[in-house]
Amino acid sequence: MALALRLPFDDEVLSTLIIEYVAEEQVADRRAFLRSILGCQTSSLVSMPRGLKRLSEETRDYWNLTAEEIARQLTCMPYHVASSPCSVAEDVLTSMTGARTKNFNRAELGFGLYSDKTFLRYCRQCIAEDRVEGRRPYFRRTQQLPGVAVCPKHGNYLTCSGLRASTLHIGGAKEYLDVFADGDDLQGENPNGIGIQVLSEVAKRSAQTLIHAEPSAYFDLSKHYKARLDEIGLMHGNGNCRLDELSSAMVSYFGRPYLSWLGLHTPGREARDWIIPLLCQGPTIAPTISHILLQQFLSWNSISVSRFGGGNVLSQGVRVSHSGHLRNSPEAARDGVSMREVTMDLGTSLRTRPSIDWSHRDEVYLEFLKHAANNVRLEIPPRRVSVHRILVLSKVSPGFHRQLKKLPQCREFLAAIVESGEQFRRRLYMYKTRKSSQ
Ligand SMILES: [Zn+2]
Repeated sequence: MALALRLPFDDEVLSTLIIEYVAEEQVADRRAFLRSILGCQTSSLVSMPRGLKRLSEETRDYWNLTAEEIARQLTCMPYHVASSPCSVAEDVLTSMTGARTKNFNRAELGFGLYSDKTFLRYCRQCIAEDRVEGRRPYFRRTQQLPGVAVCPKHGNYLTCSGLRASTLHIGGAKEYLDVFADGDDLQGENPNGIGIQVLSEVAKRSAQTLIHAEPSAYFDLSKHYKARLDEIGLMHGNGNCRLDELSSAMVSYFGRPYLSWLGLHTPGREARDWIIPLLCQGPTIAPTISHILLQQFLSWNSISVSRFGGGNVLSQGVRVSHSGHLRNSPEAARDGVSMREVTMDLGTSLRTRPSIDWSHRDEVYLEFLKHAANNVRLEIPPRRVSVHRILVLSKVSPGFHRQLKKLPQCREFLAAIVESGEQFRRRLYMYKTRKSSQ
């Protein structure tokens, strides 16, 4: 039997595409139908469905995608295995794409440390665009990832549909045809919580992870995290993390309502439960969402560290995060305010050239460059640390090159940090060796 599923749209969720077909064709025996196209009884249709080999064969005339391509392009699998050990990532892929179904343990992907949201979410603006452009509205993968409460593209709160992820294979088709008609938006889940800019950053990071991260790319970043925590004063001299301070700073930064929504803050679960696996290798695997939250927290903090002059920056930082007005600070750069606006706010308007305090600007820019350089070094797969790449990420003003002669600290920093081709090749080689030995 050749199955005439329509071609998937960009970032579409495979399972809702199938359910849409079942609803439109009014398939009578839904269970039997799913069994026939997937070759097995599947209960986890949304995040990592099985039976993709059979589906690839059934849809070959229309899609021409291999089982692995279906898994990578139409399911949330790449996101979930970003934080798992290589062996687990392989098991997951085999279980999804193999001819015979193999079981894998979701605990090995860190499930259990957070709650998988039960209802599928959508963005009203995305749906409106679908209608304007003459497409059938559809569900996006990037909007179903844990912790994603706003649209990564539009930055507005997502809406909960009536479709339950866990029972999609049973009841989904009944409700599908008017699924985009209604629903509550997620703002209600986040009263007095974190600002929408932070949620938007988390959503963008999550989407990037789904689309670009390699399997196991985040597995064991503990050394890197510890180095960053050390920079912001959250490590003891003996190499142990100041866990209580980090936990309470993370809870303050993200807010209890948001973490509770994610199931990362419940009466029986403290922040340290999901922070410890990020820093120490043990039996518990840190889920991808915990990496994303820590990376977001670190990237925000490494820029506030300069502003508050080292020491215990966190109490200060948290205060700023709750004010909701980030525009007067270097932190604003993280929220998309251009470097030009920031320099204006700092009283060094680009137009009033004679009154510019160059040494002050040198210091401010230096922090941006350091932060950007750090992020370049973190990129996976590795990219060469070049002046161009640092400038792009730091969002410094277009005239920066001309100003550089008046910014000695920035000049020295850039000269010292950029990698030669040889240095980069060596780092790339180490990365590949490390990866293949895992
Ligand atoms: Zn949207």
